[in-house]
Amino acid sequence: MTKNHSNLFAAFSIDGKVPKRTLLEAFADSGILEDDNRCAGMIKRLKCGPEDLNLEDFQRLQDYSPALFQQVLSGQLAIPQFKNFCKEIEEIFEKVSSNKSGKLADYIPQLQRVNPDKFSTSVCSIDGQQMSLGNSDDFFCVQSCSKPITYGLALEELGEEEVHKYVGTEPSGRTFNELALNTKGLPHNPMINAGAIMCGALIKPGAESADRFDYVMSKWKELAGGRKIGFDNAVYLSERQTADRNFALGYFMREKKAFPPSADLLDALDFYFQCCSIEANTTSLAVIAATLANGGNCPLTGVQVMRPDHVKDCLSLMSSCGMYDFSGEFAFKVGIPAKSGVSGAILLVVPNVAGLAVWSPRLDELGNSVRGVELCRQLVSRFKFHTFDSMIGLTDDRIDPRRNLYESRFGGITALCWAAYEDDVAEMRRLIAMGVDPTAHDYDRRTALHISASEGNLNALRYLLSLGVDINPLDRWGKTPLDDADMQSHPGAIAMLDEHGGIRRAVNVVKLV
Ligand code: GLU
Repeated sequence: MTKNHSNLFAAFSIDGKVPKRTLLEAFADSGILEDDNRCAGMIKRLKCGPEDLNLEDFQRLQDYSPALFQQVLSGQLAIPQFKNFCKEIEEIFEKVSSNKSGKLADYIPQLQRVNPDKFSTSVCSIDGQQMSLGNSDDFFCVQSCSKPITYGLALEELGEEEVHKYVGTEPSGRTFNELALNTKGLPHNPMINAGAIMCGALIKPGAESADRFDYVMSKWKELAGGRKIGFDNAVYLSERQTADRNFALGYFMREKKAFPPSADLLDALDFYFQCCSIEANTTSLAVIAATLANGGNCPLTGVQVMRPDHVKDCLSLMSSCGMYDFSGEFAFKVGIPAKSGVSGAILLVVPNVAGLAVWSPRLDELGNSVRGVELCRQLVSRFKFHTFDSMIGLTDDRIDPRRNLYESRFGGITALCWAAYEDDVAEMRRLIAMGVDPTAHDYDRRTALHISASEGNLNALRYLLSLGVDINPLDRWGKTPLDDADMQSHPGAIAMLDEHGGIRRAVNVVKLV
């Protein structure tokens, strides 16, 4: 048994035994679901095993999936405090729920008939921690959420250089189905209809259409890690029936000789309608988004479905072109690579953290889900999920769910107190430069000023006073820093604090010397 493993056993045991309830709770809180293939066998064994596990039982259990077992019990998953994270998501979901504005897409009856009140969201972290809220079992057609996947599969097939001989990388500045091509006579990008029709034409061009469909469905299923992916035939038939604009786009591109010679226009269009008609729920879409967030490797199965460089290309174009004519503002305000579809779905990818999916069918005038966009805005108002939030560092109070709150936020305070104890001004300066608040206190409301005074550390005291920190903060016993300096009989510190307006609050200061 390695040291890590014996630490685990020691941390969870009471009188030499680990209660099975504690382990089940740790797994439930971690967001790793019981039906997750990586741990289903282990959970089953645990459930039918003894109430308390000895070292040998514990060892046998972790042999099922040693890495995951270790990660869960030592809190080393992508979102360490998953339960707190879920609470925040629940609050956001609740807050956004009441928004009933927007209208259903009405260009096909199947979308017009959807219950407009449906609302769900799901999250899957890059370690496979999952949560879902609302109507997350309900399936809907993915519509334009298929576009980044079609593009990714074209990249897998031909590579970036070849694909971009046929489709550009610029936002079009026009609506998603506008009859327009770029100056080279190519679709502007893969996230609008013309570009998606083109990317579809690049996937297995010579193959039978049935085989192409099978291939794409199998890739969707791999991306979703075995979560259910379906196909809505009625949507497909309707899409095909009401596709004058898409046919026009196709013929326009053919007239401009935009397609590769091997492509068949009608086949390409048909394939595009099929992709729009793929069905998912937010649970499966979130896993797909998580696979993208994880560089193309599905967190639930470990299968590398797409190459990381291809995923990077997908995410880049989702960032600049994924939200119809709202893409620029979305990139600015929310800053999460996303793709939205007219069924009211939004696929969101927080690189190296998690994938999210939202579904709420009422759309705004630009074609984005009203509650979906609102949820995204709320997400970045609580979490440091904007691509460039890394610029802001510790000076920002929003939550970084990648980090354990105790270790990150409170770790800074503890470090500052220790630096004050050591009279190490250089370290204090470094911590404060990183965003640690010089007036912050620990659980006993002790500040760095209390510690410096108590130790008679004049350098640290002088530095803190030069920052203009409150000179008379009270700790949990009602003591000021001057009380501390008095108590420990540090004349230099007493003089310095006196001079800066320090007061005495403690009634019974017991001099220790
Ligand atoms: N399927 C629709 C079309 O091609 C729209 C897809 C979407 O933007 O979600 O016109």
